Amino acid sequence: MPSNSKKKTWVKPKQIIVTVGHCKYCKKEIINTDSFVSFYKSGHAHYICMKIDADKDSESNGESHLR
Ligand SMILES: [Zn+2]
Repeated sequence: MPSNSKKKTWVKPKQIIVTVGHCKYCKKEIINTDSFVSFYKSGHAHYICMKIDADKDSESNGESHLR
């Protein structure tokens, strides 16, 4: 048994925030706590930005007129 259980002063650090890169859609920085997606070769994007873009695509396909 380890003998270092006197007092728990060590607080686990919160998630370290780092910049992942720039969103290919909105060009803003993406941090690792955001929801984001990575693309092969073409970098990263916010999940929400990608979703908006995907919605646009499906609209032009005439598939998502219904909300
Ligand atoms: Zn974005």
